[in-house]
Amino acid sequence: MANYAIVGTGPMGLMAALELLEKGHSVDIYERDDRVGGMSASFDFAGLQIERYYHFICKTDYPLFSLLSRLGLSDALHWTDTRMGYFYNGKLYRWGTPFALLGFPHLGIVDKFRYALHVMYTKGISDWSKLDKENATQWIRKWIGERAYDVLWRKAFQLKFFEYSDQLSASWIGTRIKRIALSRRSLMHESLGYLDGGSRTLLDAMESRIRALGGRILLSRGIDEVVSDSGRVTGVRAGGEVMPYDGVLSTAPIQYVPGMVPGLPEEFANSIRKIENIPVACVILKLKHAVSENFWMNISDPSIAIPGVIEYSNLNPGEAGAAKILYAPFYMPKTHPKWSETNESLIEEVLGYLPKLNPSFNRDWVLATHCHRYEFAQTICPPGFQDMLPSMRTPLQGFFMADTAYYYPEDRSISESVEVGRRLAEEALR
Ligand SMILES: Cc1cc2nc3c(=O)[nH]c(=O)nc-3n(C[C@H](O)[C@H](O)[C@H](O)COP(=O)(O)OP(=O)(O)OC[C@H]3O[C@@H](n4cnc5c(N)ncnc54)[C@H](O)[C@@H]3O)c2cc1C
Repeated sequence: MANYAIVGTGPMGLMAALELLEKGHSVDIYERDDRVGGMSASFDFAGLQIERYYHFICKTDYPLFSLLSRLGLSDALHWTDTRMGYFYNGKLYRWGTPFALLGFPHLGIVDKFRYALHVMYTKGISDWSKLDKENATQWIRKWIGERAYDVLWRKAFQLKFFEYSDQLSASWIGTRIKRIALSRRSLMHESLGYLDGGSRTLLDAMESRIRALGGRILLSRGIDEVVSDSGRVTGVRAGGEVMPYDGVLSTAPIQYVPGMVPGLPEEFANSIRKIENIPVACVILKLKHAVSENFWMNISDPSIAIPGVIEYSNLNPGEAGAAKILYAPFYMPKTHPKWSETNESLIEEVLGYLPKLNPSFNRDWVLATHCHRYEFAQTICPPGFQDMLPSMRTPLQGFFMADTAYYYPEDRSISESVEVGRRLAEEALR
């Protein structure tokens, strides 16, 4: 039996811990935050326990379904026929069904046909290795043409990836298209899932199982250093104390790893430093009324500088009682001037957009506001990313690492964290 430390209590860290504990090992999980969950954590939003960031589940989230079943939580999973909208140049259009596409007035019939063909083709891809080396925006333009790219994609890339917009891998964008396209009840109905009580239902169950198996979860206990001697991990330093361990598995964003693990060879640390990751500042509003009937509203409008809003109550209607929850994420590189604005200023900006999205909105609707930031929220995956990813098994014996970049080519999801957490534990035990 070995003695492991895990860095981070997001779904990945919790999953890796479960796997090691179930094989009879001893595990301590260290968390810098005061709660479990990482990006999936909840907070007290004026008396309502709700996630800091929205989470929806797709029909293809198989690792998540298998974990839910293992934890006896399958009945907590529900599906909603969700609606999508597209706010384009001052007007809200229906989106996400063949009829919505046909009725959209800003594209010709050939553009629409090419767009639909691209989605259908992408839905069927299972080997993403060829697209790994292709550039995403060129790939999309090639399929749907310049005009449709300008109308449907340009703003979304600009407002989420800024200077990285033209440096993304086609396979990474492709898997996002496929995941959403396959989450349908029928051709006419998108179907997205949620858990009763949100992601904390899953996190609570994982936490209980970990404790029942003898695992320890140490909150507000960030690991300052992974200690090593002669190329082998010997323990961790946290809060001024050094604790001995046979192995350490990090699930923290890998950008933290070079600073946390001085025993890594410089060449390997440099390969980690090449991977970029941008933060998010996510505004969350509790409102008296919904702004629209949509769960997801994409936005392309010269006067609005966010790529969309997510009305969580249109997915999970019971979560906030009679109130409605809306999220508005600002992804941006830290070099963007907006990153240094206050949370209040970002909240004001979003509130200023709402009358455009729904002219009957007024400030009386606002019951509570909040903005939460995550420093490394979205890995930038350029063409050729597969070969850039350092291996989970590092040259420092006993130190293993992964984070959301290791979902590649898949996009971020709790389900992918569950799968990567399982693989990370497997790698450590191999
Ligand atoms: C705006 C937004 C929207 C999203 N929407 C969805 C969605 O709709 N559906 C979906 O499935 N997923 C969604 N996700 C993604 C999902 O939240 C993540 O993929 C998942 O939570 C990642 O979990 P993780 O455990 O891999 O990593 P993280 O959540 O990053 O956890 C890493 C943990 O490590 C801790 N840590 C860091 N450094 C240290 C240290 N030195 N010592 C100790 N602890 C440390 C951190 O505090 C954190 O708790 C969304 C994310 C965001 C930001």
